[in-house]
Amino acid sequence: MIKAIQVKSRKRIEFIDITQEIRNAVSESGVSDGICWIFVPHTTAGITINENADPSVVVDIQEQLSKLIPYHSHYKHLEGNADAHIKSTITNINNHCFIENGKIVLGTWQGIFFCEYDGPRTRKVLVKIIEG
Ligand code: ZN
Repeated sequence: MIKAIQVKSRKRIEFIDITQEIRNAVSESGVSDGICWIFVPHTTAGITINENADPSVVVDIQEQLSKLIPYHSHYKHLEGNADAHIKSTITNINNHCFIENGKIVLGTWQGIFFCEYDGPRTRKVLVKIIEG
């Protein structure tokens, strides 16, 4: 079974902490040990695991990504969101974590972030829980 989580972004570029939603999906599945696979079915968004204790960490990541890949440049893609496609490729659109004793295994300071690069939009994150 694949569970869809809805995410609403409010800014063009925004990292949204979805750790609790992923924890809920794992808890609802009833799976005690396995892998939680997280997939973003979008071409201008991504998923990353990084620090969620200090919120300035993800702000720094967003700012440095935007310095590296500016909103406007000499892009061939004329839709106006070429930077968002490139940022999506850099963070990638899937990630995973282990499940042990019914809980996702994360480091003390880690959180799971949905990365919006072309918002605001309503997005989907797909979660597949694999027992084993
Ligand atoms: Zn595009």
